[in-house]
Amino acid sequence: EHGVVVVGAGMAGVQTAVALREQGFTGAVTLIGAEPHQPYDRPPLSKAVLLGTAEGSAFDVDFEALDITLRLGCEALGVRPGEHVLDTSAGPVPYDALVLATGAEPIRLAGAEGVPGVHLLRTLDDAERLRPVLARQHDIVVVGAGWIGAEFATAAREAGCAVTVVEAADRPLAGALPAEVAAPMTAWYAEAGAVLRTHARVERVEPAAPGGPGHVVLDDGSRLPAGAVVVGIGARPATAWLAGSGIDLGPHGEVPADDRLRTSVPDVYAVGDCASFPSARYGERLLVHHWDNALQGPRTVAAAIVGAPADEAPEAYDPVPYFWSEQFGRFVQYAGHHTAADTTLWRGDPTGPAWSVCWLREDRLVALLAVGRPRDLAQGRRLIQAGTGMDPRLLTDPARPLKAA
Ligand code: FAD
Repeated sequence: EHGVVVVGAGMAGVQTAVALREQGFTGAVTLIGAEPHQPYDRPPLSKAVLLGTAEGSAFDVDFEALDITLRLGCEALGVRPGEHVLDTSAGPVPYDALVLATGAEPIRLAGAEGVPGVHLLRTLDDAERLRPVLARQHDIVVVGAGWIGAEFATAAREAGCAVTVVEAADRPLAGALPAEVAAPMTAWYAEAGAVLRTHARVERVEPAAPGGPGHVVLDDGSRLPAGAVVVGIGARPATAWLAGSGIDLGPHGEVPADDRLRTSVPDVYAVGDCASFPSARYGERLLVHHWDNALQGPRTVAAAIVGAPADEAPEAYDPVPYFWSEQFGRFVQYAGHHTAADTTLWRGDPTGPAWSVCWLREDRLVALLAVGRPRDLAQGRRLIQAGTGMDPRLLTDPARPLKAA
């Protein structure tokens, strides 16, 4: 009896261990994590933890009471699925079932690796290194105007730093939102006193000289003084360690799981930022890098491991994806999934403080972005979940609650 071994002690791994106990699993549960810290939540790292208004963000889980064995500071190095053995920095660990929950790792800026003063923001250690940087109120250059870049820029402005955000695309959040929706967000940077430079690529980062700041050199030759550089150009699944294991990996390095979050090999499951799943709801495979997916997926994994009672068909994992971001004094929320082919409808004035955007496929609501309109988000999420037909004319009046025709 080796029980269940969960690799990765982030949100998805911790929730999997907890869900196993909630669903009555009585065998051994071992949670292995590379980081030395007590397992913690990531969203506060770019918010309260960064600003020092929260000390940490450790999960409020009593591992001992749940009889979950924590092995921290232990890195998984490979899997031998035929033998049911996980190889780690502390030696081989046999398993009956293995859950891959190694999350994602930030993409590094080519050429800037190891340059002093260049930071990433993914781990508690990263956030703790950045806290004093904010306190010193340096000139800060943020590379990438995505979710992390926007949240970091917000915190840095709040801390009184001069902030320049450098973005290769023509707008913020170019990978996530269409141009017309991201356009009003451009103004948020200026309003917060941050400079946003679009169409700008980093050529190189020059380290600080004694007594002076470093510089970020752009492809147009401009040199931005930078006491610190924060790189937020995306993340990719942390799965390099699975190469050669026989477990299939997808085009983005993710583990393509099935709708019960099983991988291509028996008794191995994958969940959270490292895994993609087939969405029947959206007719495509989704790779979601957001917190809610790391909260919901584990219940499916635990059910698949525990085995559903004979009278209950196990449910497929097909959530309505959800995430939020806090940036420039605004609460931004998104539910669902849309493509360029879906119809965009506005609710409210995007230059104002609160507005939403709906995406329809035929007459069904498939996705919704809400800025400062949490009620729209809550109502929209339910309508997306239900797949109800909508009357587009009723959607565009922000004074009316969102509901079906
Ligand atoms: P992770 O949280 O990445 O955890 C994986 C863990 O596995 C890590 O601790 C890692 O060290 C460990 N690991 C990796 N490889 C190995 C190995 N080989 N052996 C052992 N352990 C290993 N989402 C939102 O929806 N809203 C937000 O506002 C938001 N804010 C965020 C702010 C920041 C700064 C960051 C970084 C992310 C934010 N996210 C947000 C995303 C959200 O935090 C992630 O989607 C979530 O953490 C995914 O959980 P996970 O457990 O799959 O992966």
